[in-house]
Amino acid sequence: MRIHALTTGSVSLKHAFLHPREGVRRQLDLFLPGEWSARLPIHCWAIEHEDRVLLVDTGESATARDIPFARFHVTTADELPAALSAAGLSIDDVSEVILTHHHGDHVDGLSRVRARARMGEAEFAFIDLPFSRFMRRALRQPLPPGFAPERLSFDDGAFGAFPRSANLSTDGRIVAVETPGHTPGHLSVICVDDAGNHVHPTPRCTSRRSG
Ligand SMILES: [Zn+2]
Repeated sequence: MRIHALTTGSVSLKHAFLHPREGVRRQLDLFLPGEWSARLPIHCWAIEHEDRVLLVDTGESATARDIPFARFHVTTADELPAALSAAGLSIDDVSEVILTHHHGDHVDGLSRVRARARMGEAEFAFIDLPFSRFMRRALRQPLPPGFAPERLSFDDGAFGAFPRSANLSTDGRIVAVETPGHTPGHLSVICVDDAGNHVHPTPRCTSRRSG
């Protein structure tokens, strides 16, 4: 198994996003003037295993618009095809995409991929909520063109502390588990690497704390 961290550009984030206060200030501070971080990489992951390449998220694209608490630095030369190329892979090598959740810095690269894509079943209901629709309009972060992943259901029993899981490889060494919080339908991917360690190639979200 080989696990590659791919970088699709970078983002500067307001300190209020990275270090939120409690209560109403948590949301309010995002929209008030404040300090900004240095540029942080926008990651996604590629896992080579069983003669397949599984992508966990697809990174950001050059179409990303700045929002009140995030400034994106992504050119077309930073997008998924180039990020895969830097790891010695090609967009045509991708066998399948697993999306952790629906935010733009995780799904905007999907329009470049022809392979099957799946997202956790609970995220679909969340995407359609009026609150989610409002946030996408208000922050000018639409879903990417042709966004139509399939539903990933968690029918493969417990994995460690997680009551349900979804096998993503035939040998059970790559699984998805439900990790609601950042969004209600968020999932994480766990790999059992060649040394038997459990590793967790799941990109941190840089676009929104909720919504
Ligand atoms: Zn997110």
